[in-house]
Amino acid sequence: MSGDGWHEDRPKEECGVIGLFSPGSEASRLAFFSLYALQHRGQESAGIAVSDGSQVHTELGLGLVGQIFDESVLARLPGHMAVGHTRYSTTGGSELRNAQPIQCTSVVGEIAVAHNGNLINSRELRAELIAEGEVFNATTDSEIIARLIVRNLHLGPENAVAATMRRIEGAYAVAVLTPDRLLAFRDPNGIRPLVAGEVGDGWMVASETCAFWPVGGVPRRQVGPGEVVIIDGRGMRFAQAVPSQREARCLFEFIYFARPDSRMYGTSLYRARERMGERLAQEQPADADIVVPVPDSGIPAALGFSRVTGIPYHEAMIKNRYIHRTFIQPDQRMRELGVQMKLAPMIEEIEGRSLVLVDDSIVRATTTRQIVKLLRDCGARSIHVRITAPPIRHPCFYGIDMSSRGELAAAAMTIDEIACHIGADSLGYLTIEGACEAVGQPMSAFCLACFNGNYPVPVPDGLSKDALVPDVGQLSTLGPRAG
Ligand code: SF4
Repeated sequence: MSGDGWHEDRPKEECGVIGLFSPGSEASRLAFFSLYALQHRGQESAGIAVSDGSQVHTELGLGLVGQIFDESVLARLPGHMAVGHTRYSTTGGSELRNAQPIQCTSVVGEIAVAHNGNLINSRELRAELIAEGEVFNATTDSEIIARLIVRNLHLGPENAVAATMRRIEGAYAVAVLTPDRLLAFRDPNGIRPLVAGEVGDGWMVASETCAFWPVGGVPRRQVGPGEVVIIDGRGMRFAQAVPSQREARCLFEFIYFARPDSRMYGTSLYRARERMGERLAQEQPADADIVVPVPDSGIPAALGFSRVTGIPYHEAMIKNRYIHRTFIQPDQRMRELGVQMKLAPMIEEIEGRSLVLVDDSIVRATTTRQIVKLLRDCGARSIHVRITAPPIRHPCFYGIDMSSRGELAAAAMTIDEIACHIGADSLGYLTIEGACEAVGQPMSAFCLACFNGNYPVPVPDGLSKDALVPDVGQLSTLGPRAG
């Protein structure tokens, strides 16, 4: 296994996007603080593109938002309009050329595009565009969206977005900056989230509501499936760019990805996770001395579990919040320490006690196994693992990196076998029904593909995650460059 164990085995959101139109403000500064709030959605690269009404400028970098932007970089970004992006790579590598927003030349001047999600027809589209003479600079499917918008801009920005949406398939929430307006749109199944609202005398969009608070913004509503938001000097308006048959909201946003202080579709993420813990306690009770969360994401569910069972809640591990992906790679011996780089146990809380360990998900089971061993080594008498995500048996093709099917623990083993593999005394998962009821929305409102294999956007036969990445031969180092 490469990496530090913890990072390698967590499901990873692909990206976070924001867009701002704020007359009289330095949009780059607002974008910086908004992006800071979306850092959890991607830690490999970040970027901000701005416009002063006539020209678009973009600054990009590898690393965290706070590592890339400082006063001198923000000073190079004048204007009252901005789009921003935080990225974790699932398709395409973590190179600077894959950072976003992607800046391209068009008939209306430079434009910048920021995308969260994954296209499932990117291979065909890329081949088709290359056959027609298009030259790609990056390895991401996001550049396909940018190229299609550029090709259609002679129709006008709104029609260019609609024409693009008719060609691309999969999951997407996209923010586009032209010299004089901001557009944002969401796929017709509404898989990835996108919220629209106000900031100062202007308007903004963001992947999550938590991006509004640091800049004094007020989220108003989710952008609907297939809808486009147009923001310019005339205000903010919405249009149905392509028809939508249903909404298939990513259930994993509720279980793990989105920040707990965000609200989605009118539901508090923190409260939803508490209710998942309550429901888990009803479905999978356990007898123990204390309920222990895997910090930080397991905390609300552990509180809910404790409330229903009456078993006291105790924190028994402290998470080092300042370990992120960095340019300093751990050495081999540190890699073997795995989860210890991230979690420090409090032996006094653990020794001689039986524990209910509450976590959000099991992907390959590497991390859970390491945590259980850590607790055993600290003298835990018994460990009952309870998980708020139903068993993950199928890969995600819509922008969440959670390994190929062959690596998913629940695809290869029975629940008893996983319990044995991770060294737990018992293992229990929340049901799909239980998770949806805890969120307070019907099952039909969600994408549940990674749990039940029913993909809301049909995935072509034989498509693997690797097939979403273009051949090197499909790339060129020539042509327009991002940023
Ligand atoms: S497959 Fe799972 S992780 Fe992917 S969008 Fe659907 S619910 Fe979310």
